[in-house]
Amino acid sequence: MQHTVSPIGIVHSCFKEKFAIPRQPRLAPAARGVLELLPPFDQGEAVAGLEQVSHVWLLFLFHQALEDKPRLKVRPPRLGGNKSVGVFATRATHRPNGIGQSVVRLEAVEPGRLLLSGIDLLDGTPVLDIKPYVPYADSIAEAHNRMAGDAPEAIAVQWSDNALLQARNHALRLGEPLIELIEQCLGQDPRPAYQVPPPERIYGVKFWDVQVRWQYPQPDRIRVLEVVPDQAQ
Ligand code: SAM
Repeated sequence: MQHTVSPIGIVHSCFKEKFAIPRQPRLAPAARGVLELLPPFDQGEAVAGLEQVSHVWLLFLFHQALEDKPRLKVRPPRLGGNKSVGVFATRATHRPNGIGQSVVRLEAVEPGRLLLSGIDLLDGTPVLDIKPYVPYADSIAEAHNRMAGDAPEAIAVQWSDNALLQARNHALRLGEPLIELIEQCLGQDPRPAYQVPPPERIYGVKFWDVQVRWQYPQPDRIRVLEVVPDQAQ
């Protein structure tokens, strides 16, 4: 059976590239975005009642990880990137039909758009459906996952004086919790697990419209060097 699905909305997110997006929602509560609903769902009617809900499930397309040939096994970063397991045992982006799901905080409901936080979605992600989180059904006290039971432990994020000042100024300009976003996302240690970071190597990522650059003075410690306007703007 074949069935065509089409997006009901597009996410405008703080994350402009895949690198340094947390591996699951809610790991960075300061990660915010707007889900713009597409016609005919941009009418207030489509979201009437949703203001009674604190969190929603988003079903979306991993539009930057779509593949023609399905994989049966994947190497999840959570397992260090060197152990392969069945694709259905993981939340990997490379999967049949390319469908992702994230439970995110619903900050506000407006006609035609939802304001979201705690997201793990790339800018431009097409959303296929929205469903309200239902605590009695979706929260399972006795649930376990022996591969990914607890949230990964965050590493320390330190700031150069200059970077902190720059981040404060950009946070004010953007009206966004940029310092928290940087600390929460870099604290997840975005570099590939198998990569031992040479202390001189500079890493960078774009959040909103700024480039954040950092080094690893020690493998488990990040130092933010600068937060500057993205040149590619
Ligand atoms: N919570 C979702 C799930 O379980 O289906 C996503 C989990 S997946 C492991 C999270 C990663 O997906 C993020 O770190 C980011 O790099 C990647 N990602 C987010 N949006 C994407 C998109 N639209 N296309 C491709 N990759 C995306």
